[in-house]
Amino acid sequence: MANASHAAAVVARRRATQWIILSVVIVTLALGWWIPWFGFSVPLVMITGMVGSFFRGRYVCGNLCPRGAFYDRLMAPISRRRAVPKWIRSPGFRWTIFTLLMGFMVYRVLLNPTDPLHWGRVFWTMCLVTTAIGIPLAILIHPRTWCSFCPIGTVQGAIGGGKRRLTIEAESCRACRLCERRCPMGLTIAEHAAAGELPHWDCLRCSECVAVCPTGALRWPT
Ligand code: SF4
Ligand code: SF4
Repeated sequence: MANASHAAAVVARRRATQWIILSVVIVTLALGWWIPWFGFSVPLVMITGMVGSFFRGRYVCGNLCPRGAFYDRLMAPISRRRAVPKWIRSPGFRWTIFTLLMGFMVYRVLLNPTDPLHWGRVFWTMCLVTTAIGIPLAILIHPRTWCSFCPIGTVQGAIGGGKRRLTIEAESCRACRLCERRCPMGLTIAEHAAAGELPHWDCLRCSECVAVCPTGALRWPT
């Protein structure tokens, strides 16, 4: 079970990292209006996620995004953990949200394009508005409901969601669905055993499912 013990170590490191980086979103929200430089944490995470997606899909969303960490560590314990409605994950809804939010951000930046402090406040506003949407969704539906239609997550999935997909060994899977209960995105896993790999572009490459699988049916391609 070297695969499982390695995954358990990866998960432990991921969770420890999340406890640290979630402070970025709290500090940004608390101080960003008065110290607009904090707002630049938003484009920093956006750019990191986009670059990372060329290699490992939504890995940054799952392991290095401060707001993703905020949802996983602080919202999950108080979430009702219901299934995210299918229409929220639909391409039409996601690209509509992408167009509206990115359009709003660019419009606001262009109102005063030469002042970096203005840019910082625009980014802070984006962080505030989207977190205000994400928190009630996290409590009422699923911790990562926001991540199911986050504009940057949508772009990352479109760029690299198909790269290095999780593999499922059909002979080993006994359909217990422990992996699905642990998955931070609430993805279906066991029903794809026959296909041999996970088709979802929203997989965060977090290895939570690999660590919990009792039969070692889940693996990352080497
Ligand atoms: S935890 Fe493992 S055995 Fe259980 S459903 Fe998931 S992949 Fe299959
Ligand atoms: S399928 Fe596995 S690796 Fe992908 S997000 Fe869910 S738990 Fe993480």
